[in-house]
Amino acid sequence: MIIILKPGATEEQTTELLTSLENMGFSYHFSQGVESSIIGIIGDTSKIDTDMLCANEIVSGVRRVSEPYKLANRKFHPVDSIIQVSGNTIGEGTFSVIAGPCSVESEEQIISVAKDVKKSGARFLRGGAFKPRTSPYAFQGLHADGLKLLLEAKKETGLPIVTEIMNQTHLDLFSDVDIIQVGARNMQNFELLKELGRCDKPILLKRGLANTIEEWLMSAEYIMAGGNTNVIFCERGIRTFETVTRNTIDLSAVPVLKKLSHLPVIVDPSHATGIPWMIEPLSKAAVAVGADGLMIEVHNNPKTALCDGAQSLTPMQFDHVMQKVKALAEFEGKKV
Ligand code: PEP
Ligand code: MN
Repeated sequence: MIIILKPGATEEQTTELLTSLENMGFSYHFSQGVESSIIGIIGDTSKIDTDMLCANEIVSGVRRVSEPYKLANRKFHPVDSIIQVSGNTIGEGTFSVIAGPCSVESEEQIISVAKDVKKSGARFLRGGAFKPRTSPYAFQGLHADGLKLLLEAKKETGLPIVTEIMNQTHLDLFSDVDIIQVGARNMQNFELLKELGRCDKPILLKRGLANTIEEWLMSAEYIMAGGNTNVIFCERGIRTFETVTRNTIDLSAVPVLKKLSHLPVIVDPSHATGIPWMIEPLSKAAVAVGADGLMIEVHNNPKTALCDGAQSLTPMQFDHVMQKVKALAEFEGKKV
């Protein structure tokens, strides 16, 4: 980290700043210039608050030369992380597909979809029990009953389950859930992230509606800083000026994350586009850019779905997508 001092900084003010850095446990390199001087801070600066430094009257600017995230950073963990979930592996030569309805609606619905997506090659069953809806009048999910139904579908099919948590006070209800999803709207719910950092379950961390990749990495860092290193990123599209698709899929986030981090990355083309016919081409694109898997919404009868029916695939459409994805992923040397 480099601190640039204002031209008028006095010796006394400069010494005071250098002493405060020493008191924080940092060493530094001070370089006296003709116009202005700079201080290069040596060591792990991830815990330094740059805004606090900028508030000092003699500081004209602060530049980070290393990233503010450490645990999620590939520099400190060069090997790809592999997440082990109930006998399945995410990352390392595998391409994992998570499929299921947007929300759990009934026993018949979730078991029927679970059986169908399993037959087509999905490794995980998804289904929301706590739904983050824009309208308070829309279906909010079956809550604890929805989680029970997911567990029944797991018992019936053997598929591990992925479901969203919206509030840390619900964590006890999630003890038999295999992967806990943090939805886009909660990517920066820091109290929730801190609590999930204290559990040992894999966390599927969706990208926020309008968040940068660095902010997303910092959210992963929140979870990891608590001791839980089982984090999986999920690109689900971001808000842009475009209105043809529900969101704009940012496939470049996949190679960027792979470069900056060691954590697995999956892609959710359902929420990214909101359009069923776009799921196939974008699923294939996700394989091509190096994603570790997909999350796809599938409903036994999309017309009657209580949430996101318009973007859901029928089991038959999903089966078709899976055949294409499987062929491509296997061509890339990955096990589906
Ligand atoms: C979901 O997975 O159903 C969901 C609500 O996703 P997102 O948080 O990406 O909108
Ligand atoms: Mn949905």
